[in-house]
Amino acid sequence: MKNKFYIAANWKMNKTLKECSEYMDYFTNLLLEIPESKVIFCPPFSALFTMKSLLEETPYALGAQNLFWEESGAYTGEISAEMLLSCSVTHVIVGHSERRHLFGETDRMVNKRVLKALSSGLIPILCIGETIEQRNNNETLAVLENQLKIGLESVSGEEINKMIFAYEPVWAIGTGERATPDQIAEAHVSVRISITGIKMGNADNIPILYGGSVNSKNVSELLKIKDVNGYLIGGASLNADEFISIIQQTENYIKESE
Ligand code: PEP
Repeated sequence: MKNKFYIAANWKMNKTLKECSEYMDYFTNLLLEIPESKVIFCPPFSALFTMKSLLEETPYALGAQNLFWEESGAYTGEISAEMLLSCSVTHVIVGHSERRHLFGETDRMVNKRVLKALSSGLIPILCIGETIEQRNNNETLAVLENQLKIGLESVSGEEINKMIFAYEPVWAIGTGERATPDQIAEAHVSVRISITGIKMGNADNIPILYGGSVNSKNVSELLKIKDVNGYLIGGASLNADEFISIIQQTENYIKESE
């Protein structure tokens, strides 16, 4: 079976329940047929339950923006895998750069979250990416490799096959400054090589998404990059028209190139 193109919406700390309902009503009226893509909505925790109902009878999947590795207990502000599963969540973002840089999440913590997601049957979307300083010091590929090595510690090859990865240069997230096609291509090839080495097996079918200021104006350029299997989209996914345009351009491009 042919792999789908993944388009994940990271709504970050945005949208009340009313705004989620309005968005999804509008969205599902305009777009339901998406044979080539797998669209995943990652709303804030407060909206997961509402989104579960809004996504029923649609082809779209529900993702969360994080999870904690313990099952329950005195962990104020955290959320467990079981809680996410009870809202019909299937995917979970792990290691987002905002978690790493604003909230001090380390690669070791990211690894625990990946392991917990996998053992609970959730699909982790593991985010990795370099800062601008690391890029300027020519450390990008080494940083990515290290984030993968620690993030995937004790994860089996079979489990890696179930995962999704997202290359998100920190300097391109929410800045309007997208990485160039050459930078993206270089990073994605290198990430695939690293994953192949870590799992000691073929990683050709593992989805590697690009994230960082993707929008309806630049998506056509990104679609042509080999080894980009989808997008993780923040700002541009908050506006339904903008997000629909990205999905439609993707669907058209894939259909035309078949
Ligand atoms: C993100 O939140 O993962 C992201 C890529 O954000 P933006 O699209 O706004 O850069």
